[in-house]
Amino acid sequence: MTSPLTCPRCNSTEIIFHNYARKACGAIGTTAGAASGIASTLGGAEIGATIGFIAGPPGAFVGGIAGALMGALLGGAAGCITGVAVGSTIDAKVLDNCECKSCGHKFTE
Ligand SMILES: [Zn+2]
Repeated sequence: MTSPLTCPRCNSTEIIFHNYARKACGAIGTTAGAASGIASTLGGAEIGATIGFIAGPPGAFVGGIAGALMGALLGGAAGCITGVAVGSTIDAKVLDNCECKSCGHKFTE
């Protein structure tokens, strides 16, 4: 966030950033990324299971879960970053992301 940003109507520097799209897209991206992470890391789960198999059946189970979880976390993080980037662009270009606390004027950055 680059303040000082000033209100185009009253020149106040008391500006609120809403970041609606940023938050929404971040959440959507995290969910989508986690889902695709789980799907694409069924391979990772297999690797985990294979490594865990050395430690016996319980090891294979734990290894498989760990592999799938890792995929979900990584996918979710990647999706979140993508979603936030997309949302930030929408906020900046499309929505009235900024609101002046002094006069209530809404405007884009
Ligand atoms: Zn203002």
